[in-house]
Amino acid sequence: MNDVKLLPLLNITAESLMIPSEKVAHVQMNNPLEHALLILVKSGYSAVPVLDTSYKFKGTIGKNIILNRILGLERFEMEKLSEVRVDEVVNQTIPCVQKQDDFLTCLKTVIDYPFVCVVDQEGYFDGILTRRAILKQLNKYIHVNKDLFKA
Ligand code: AMP
Repeated sequence: MNDVKLLPLLNITAESLMIPSEKVAHVQMNNPLEHALLILVKSGYSAVPVLDTSYKFKGTIGKNIILNRILGLERFEMEKLSEVRVDEVVNQTIPCVQKQDDFLTCLKTVIDYPFVCVVDQEGYFDGILTRRAILKQLNKYIHVNKDLFKA
Protein backbone atom coordinates (compact mmCIF):
# COMPACT_ATOMS: atom_id res chain seq x y z
CA MET A 1 0.00 0.00 0.00
CA ASN A 2 1.31 3.51 -0.77
CA ASP A 3 2.36 5.66 2.17
CA VAL A 4 0.16 8.67 1.47
CA LYS A 5 2.24 10.94 3.71
CA LEU A 6 5.43 10.21 1.80
CA LEU A 7 3.99 9.91 -1.66
CA PRO A 8 2.04 13.01 -2.65
CA LEU A 9 -1.29 12.13 -4.19
CA LEU A 10 -0.57 13.79 -7.50
CA ASN A 11 2.56 11.66 -8.00
CA ILE A 12 0.63 8.41 -7.83
CA THR A 13 0.33 6.77 -11.24
CA ALA A 14 -2.20 4.42 -12.80
CA GLU A 15 0.36 1.61 -12.58
CA SER A 16 0.41 1.58 -8.77
CA LEU A 17 -3.39 1.42 -8.53
CA MET A 18 -4.31 -0.87 -11.39
CA ILE A 19 -5.32 -4.52 -11.29
CA PRO A 20 -2.68 -6.20 -13.52
CA SER A 21 -3.82 -8.02 -16.65
CA GLU A 22 -3.09 -11.50 -15.26
CA LYS A 23 -5.72 -10.95 -12.54
CA VAL A 24 -8.37 -9.52 -14.85
CA ALA A 25 -11.18 -11.67 -16.28
CA HIS A 26 -11.54 -10.97 -20.01
CA VAL A 27 -13.09 -12.33 -23.18
CA GLN A 28 -11.83 -12.39 -26.76
CA MET A 29 -13.34 -10.85 -29.88
CA ASN A 30 -14.03 -14.20 -31.53
CA ASN A 31 -15.77 -15.76 -28.51
CA PRO A 32 -19.51 -16.42 -28.82
CA LEU A 33 -21.78 -14.37 -26.55
CA GLU A 34 -22.48 -17.56 -24.61
CA HIS A 35 -18.88 -17.67 -23.43
CA ALA A 36 -18.90 -13.97 -22.50
CA LEU A 37 -22.09 -14.43 -20.48
CA LEU A 38 -20.58 -17.41 -18.70
CA ILE A 39 -17.51 -15.35 -17.69
CA LEU A 40 -19.69 -12.45 -16.54
CA VAL A 41 -22.06 -14.61 -14.48
CA LYS A 42 -19.29 -16.73 -12.95
CA SER A 43 -17.10 -13.72 -12.08
CA GLY A 44 -20.01 -11.63 -10.82
CA TYR A 45 -18.80 -8.59 -12.81
CA SER A 46 -21.25 -6.55 -14.83
CA ALA A 47 -18.66 -5.91 -17.56
CA VAL A 48 -15.18 -7.15 -18.51
CA PRO A 49 -12.53 -6.10 -21.06
CA VAL A 50 -12.48 -7.55 -24.58
CA LEU A 51 -9.09 -8.39 -26.14
CA ASP A 52 -8.03 -9.65 -29.54
CA THR A 53 -5.91 -12.75 -30.01
CA SER A 54 -2.69 -10.71 -29.63
CA TYR A 55 -3.94 -9.27 -26.30
CA LYS A 56 -4.68 -5.81 -27.65
CA PHE A 57 -7.54 -4.02 -25.92
CA LYS A 58 -10.67 -3.74 -28.08
CA GLY A 59 -13.43 -2.58 -25.70
CA THR A 60 -15.72 -3.99 -23.04
CA ILE A 61 -18.72 -6.25 -22.90
CA GLY A 62 -21.42 -6.35 -20.23
CA LYS A 63 -24.53 -8.33 -19.37
CA ASN A 64 -26.85 -5.58 -20.66
CA ILE A 65 -25.28 -5.48 -24.12
CA ILE A 66 -25.66 -9.26 -24.39
CA LEU A 67 -29.25 -9.36 -23.17
CA ASN A 68 -30.23 -6.52 -25.53
CA ARG A 69 -28.61 -8.29 -28.47
CA ILE A 70 -30.49 -11.56 -27.93
CA LEU A 71 -33.81 -9.86 -27.13
CA GLY A 72 -36.36 -10.60 -29.87
CA LEU A 73 -39.85 -9.14 -30.20
CA GLU A 74 -41.42 -11.40 -27.61
CA ARG A 75 -38.68 -13.48 -26.06
CA PHE A 76 -34.97 -13.87 -25.51
CA GLU A 77 -33.68 -15.73 -28.57
CA MET A 78 -31.28 -18.00 -26.69
CA GLU A 79 -29.94 -19.60 -29.87
CA LYS A 80 -28.24 -16.26 -30.64
CA LEU A 81 -25.93 -16.81 -27.68
CA SER A 82 -23.98 -19.32 -29.74
CA GLU A 83 -24.50 -17.60 -33.12
CA VAL A 84 -23.39 -14.04 -32.31
CA ARG A 85 -19.76 -13.23 -31.57
CA VAL A 86 -18.37 -10.72 -29.09
CA ASP A 87 -16.91 -8.53 -31.88
CA GLU A 88 -20.46 -7.77 -33.09
CA VAL A 89 -21.49 -6.08 -29.87
CA VAL A 90 -18.28 -4.92 -28.16
CA ASN A 91 -18.50 -1.45 -26.61
CA GLN A 92 -15.63 0.55 -28.08
CA THR A 93 -16.32 3.86 -26.37
CA ILE A 94 -14.49 3.14 -23.11
CA PRO A 95 -11.62 5.55 -22.43
CA CYS A 96 -8.16 4.20 -21.61
CA VAL A 97 -5.26 5.41 -19.52
CA GLN A 98 -1.57 4.53 -19.63
CA LYS A 99 0.51 3.18 -16.73
CA GLN A 100 2.40 6.45 -16.33
CA ASP A 101 -0.72 8.66 -16.21
CA ASP A 102 -1.02 10.65 -13.00
CA PHE A 103 -3.70 10.53 -10.34
CA LEU A 104 -5.71 13.51 -11.60
CA THR A 105 -5.90 12.07 -15.11
CA CYS A 106 -7.10 8.77 -13.64
CA LEU A 107 -9.65 10.48 -11.38
CA LYS A 108 -11.12 12.42 -14.29
CA THR A 109 -11.26 9.34 -16.48
CA VAL A 110 -13.16 7.12 -14.04
CA ILE A 111 -15.85 9.69 -13.19
CA ASP A 112 -18.29 8.17 -15.69
CA TYR A 113 -17.09 4.55 -15.59
CA PRO A 114 -16.83 1.86 -12.88
CA PHE A 115 -13.52 0.89 -14.48
CA VAL A 116 -11.28 1.94 -17.36
CA CYS A 117 -8.55 -0.01 -19.09
CA VAL A 118 -4.82 0.55 -18.89
CA VAL A 119 -3.05 0.04 -22.23
CA ASP A 120 0.46 0.67 -23.54
CA GLN A 121 1.36 2.89 -26.50
CA GLU A 122 0.68 0.10 -28.96
CA GLY A 123 -2.70 -0.72 -27.47
CA TYR A 124 -1.65 -3.86 -25.59
CA PHE A 125 -3.69 -4.50 -22.46
CA ASP A 126 -1.88 -3.86 -19.15
CA GLY A 127 -4.80 -4.08 -16.72
CA ILE A 128 -7.77 -2.16 -15.38
CA LEU A 129 -8.20 0.80 -13.08
CA THR A 130 -11.39 0.78 -11.03
CA ARG A 131 -13.24 3.79 -9.68
CA ARG A 132 -13.11 1.98 -6.31
CA ALA A 133 -9.27 2.03 -6.29
CA ILE A 134 -9.20 5.75 -7.11
CA LEU A 135 -11.80 6.65 -4.47
CA LYS A 136 -10.05 4.51 -1.84
CA GLN A 137 -6.80 6.36 -2.45
CA LEU A 138 -8.51 9.75 -2.38
CA ASN A 139 -10.35 8.85 0.84
CA LYS A 140 -7.11 7.74 2.50
CA TYR A 141 -5.29 10.87 1.42
CA ILE A 142 -8.02 13.20 2.73
CA HIS A 143 -8.13 11.37 6.08
CA VAL A 144 -4.37 11.46 6.57
CA ASN A 145 -4.19 15.12 5.55
CA LYS A 146 -7.43 16.29 7.23
CA ASP A 147 -5.78 19.44 8.56
CA LEU A 148 -5.06 20.66 5.07
CA PHE A 149 -8.77 20.74 4.30
CA LYS A 150 -9.91 22.73 7.36
CA ALA A 151 -10.83 26.34 6.79
P1 AMP B 1 -15.21 -2.91 -8.28
O1 AMP B 1 -14.79 -1.51 -8.08
O2 AMP B 1 -14.27 -3.90 -7.67
O3 AMP B 1 -16.66 -3.12 -7.94
O4 AMP B 1 -15.10 -3.16 -9.84
C1 AMP B 1 -15.82 -2.35 -10.74
C2 AMP B 1 -15.93 -3.09 -12.04
O5 AMP B 1 -14.62 -3.32 -12.58
C3 AMP B 1 -16.55 -4.50 -11.93
O6 AMP B 1 -17.94 -4.48 -11.98
C4 AMP B 1 -16.00 -5.15 -13.18
O7 AMP B 1 -16.74 -4.73 -14.31
C5 AMP B 1 -14.59 -4.56 -13.25
N1 AMP B 1 -13.63 -5.44 -12.57
C6 AMP B 1 -13.13 -5.31 -11.31
N2 AMP B 1 -12.23 -6.28 -11.03
C7 AMP B 1 -12.16 -7.06 -12.14
C8 AMP B 1 -11.40 -8.23 -12.51
N3 AMP B 1 -10.53 -8.81 -11.67
N4 AMP B 1 -11.60 -8.77 -13.74
C9 AMP B 1 -12.46 -8.18 -14.62
N5 AMP B 1 -13.20 -7.07 -14.35
C10 AMP B 1 -13.05 -6.51 -13.13
